[in-house]
Amino acid sequence: MQGHKAQGAQGQLDMEGALTARDRVGIQDFVLLDTHTSETAFLGNLKKRFSEDLIYTYIGTLLVSVNPYKELDIYSKKQMDIYMGVNFFELPPHIYALADNAYHTMMAEANNHFILISGESGAGKTEASKKILQYYAVSCPSTTLLDSVRDRMLVSNPVLEAFGNAKTLKNDNSSRFGKYMDIQFDIQGDAVGGHILSYLLEKSRVVHQNHGERNFHIFYQLVEGGEEDLLHQLGLESNCQHYSYLVQDECANVTSINDKNDWKTVRNALSVIDFDESDIQHLFGIIASVLHLGNVQFEADSKGYATLNKNTELRWVSTLLGINVQVLQEGLTYRKIEAKTDEVLSPFTVDHAIYARNALAKAIYGRTFTWLVNKINDSMENKEPSRKTVIGLLDIYGFEVFYVNSFEQFCINYCNEKLQQLFIQLTLKSEQEEYEAEGIGWEPVQFFNNKIICDLVEEKHRGIISVLDEECLRPGEATDFTFLEKLEEKMGSHPHFITHKLSDKKIRKTLDRGDFRLLHYAGEVTYCVVGFIDKNNDMLYRNIKDVMRQSKNAIVRECFASTESDSRRRPETVASQFKSSLLGLTDILMSKEPWYVRCLKSNESKQPGRFDDVLVRHQVKYLGLMEHLRVRRAGFAYRRRYELFLQRYKPLCPATWPHWRGVAAEGVEVLVQHLGYLPDEYKMGRTKIFIRHPRTLFATEDAFEV
Ligand code: ATP
Ligand code: MG
Repeated sequence: MQGHKAQGAQGQLDMEGALTARDRVGIQDFVLLDTHTSETAFLGNLKKRFSEDLIYTYIGTLLVSVNPYKELDIYSKKQMDIYMGVNFFELPPHIYALADNAYHTMMAEANNHFILISGESGAGKTEASKKILQYYAVSCPSTTLLDSVRDRMLVSNPVLEAFGNAKTLKNDNSSRFGKYMDIQFDIQGDAVGGHILSYLLEKSRVVHQNHGERNFHIFYQLVEGGEEDLLHQLGLESNCQHYSYLVQDECANVTSINDKNDWKTVRNALSVIDFDESDIQHLFGIIASVLHLGNVQFEADSKGYATLNKNTELRWVSTLLGINVQVLQEGLTYRKIEAKTDEVLSPFTVDHAIYARNALAKAIYGRTFTWLVNKINDSMENKEPSRKTVIGLLDIYGFEVFYVNSFEQFCINYCNEKLQQLFIQLTLKSEQEEYEAEGIGWEPVQFFNNKIICDLVEEKHRGIISVLDEECLRPGEATDFTFLEKLEEKMGSHPHFITHKLSDKKIRKTLDRGDFRLLHYAGEVTYCVVGFIDKNNDMLYRNIKDVMRQSKNAIVRECFASTESDSRRRPETVASQFKSSLLGLTDILMSKEPWYVRCLKSNESKQPGRFDDVLVRHQVKYLGLMEHLRVRRAGFAYRRRYELFLQRYKPLCPATWPHWRGVAAEGVEVLVQHLGYLPDEYKMGRTKIFIRHPRTLFATEDAFEV
């Protein structure tokens, strides 16, 4: 009690500071914004706080974070200590407070939780997830034995970022894969293990980047930072300009990125997570072989078929992957076709060979990434059979709208629709269920329910993914444009789907690229259909897979030694696979208690201290923050079990101090009457007291001081 009291006093000081300086620093919980629930007031409050470097604000227990684009001195060990074990509402909003609250609730209730971090690209999701992980690593109880697991969890980040992040137009360190990480805690509350699930890496980036973007960081790190000996062994030049996979975008150097330093961090991290020398050698061999592969050039012979004349680059690929050079060459220039009784070799044209080469580069990289995640998981695995509870951290690509949006943006934005749907279900469901269970009446708040958009994309036999998959089943006949025609035919009248009238031949002729538009919950996005069929099929010819299985590079061999030998079974398409993995993720999350961090991007130009009203307003809208606030205000911001409430506040009333001998609910009633709660401020449920505004509770906390 004493400890709590001291913390309460500190919290109160901060609270008072915040309240008296309200005009300067705004309100730290939007639920407290008194009379106005307008968007303008909401934005005004965010902006006021932002100008004071106060980037965090609550809506009840949801944390809103605005990217400051500058280092703030709020993530020190000292700050962590301040937040440890303190009640959520007693200190100014912080990501540590949310992390701490999730942790303590997990410990008290022995159940599983997850923290969903959302926001658009560049809003600060990955940074937030790193802060949370650091908080657990530093502040949870520790033993030396566990330190190594913790270190591995922490250093897995730079490794995964090196292989899975890249500079995009929106973010210099954009996550190009989705990441869900379970942090496992034992019964004492020690962080004892971790497990990562990764989602849909944007492999196309390996062979192509849009103007102003880069390939995955690891390529530049190796080329810029790799030691002379290593580069020599790998046949690499220490110059990004030399590699066609790295220079298409002409932006190998980015001021905010230090590839040389990052290389050292990654190199060091790899040894922490149990990579032995041969793993490391094979891994770098793969990165280098992808770069060499990108430089393999084909020439047309007299019949127009692809040949490889100057094949130094191919020799390097052959050496690094441990595959006979002739076999490799054949795999890149011929396709094996199964005829009735035997197999026929069909030569590629130059374009076709380039396509096959790129497909191979993407496949090698993508599979290596999966291998890497598995390897990291092995090293973080906790094999103790004891009971564990988990906090899952979800940091997944944010909603994306580029000038040209392709299949990747379609998948990413579909994923964001699913997460929004989960938020709606969990928030409304849990609120409503709890009020019902406790016998408390409340007015439901209307949300825009985006289920209609999720259905449009994923519905069996009818959704966009189904139509795409059907087209992918008609090789040779289907094109991206026939796919678009089918979409128009089937979805034409859907309220969230718009196409140009393709049936109008005149318009069609003027279109150099076909597109369709979806009215997402977050706004309108136009998708260019070019490449949809190809990317969804993600084809790799069987003979080149067979070639890869012969590799002497252990990682490559393992990556291609999968169960794909049954060539008759059609592999699942990329979109379908993604859809199933998102369904799996939804199941994982639905069984846990949710916490939310909503990240907002303050401006598009990554400038410190700039708050772009229009940009922030748009995000506030599509992240559903106003609706969330309305739910919070319509309902009850805080609720506590009678026993806990009484235990904490009984010193404030002579009738309940030092002991209340009767039923806890009755004790609470006596207590709140004594404190002067107005009838509208609280409701008595079956097992809990429900308090409408946090300020009622703040005032009660303050009563300790009187
Ligand atoms: P994406 O969806 O593209 O992966 P993201 O939401 O994960 O985007 P981050 O990579 O976390 O975005 O953040 C982008 C950049 O913004 C960071 O590299 C950093 O420079 C800055 N940033 C984000 N959060 C903070 C913070 N709390 N303090 C200081 N800078 C930050
Ligand atoms: Mg990210």
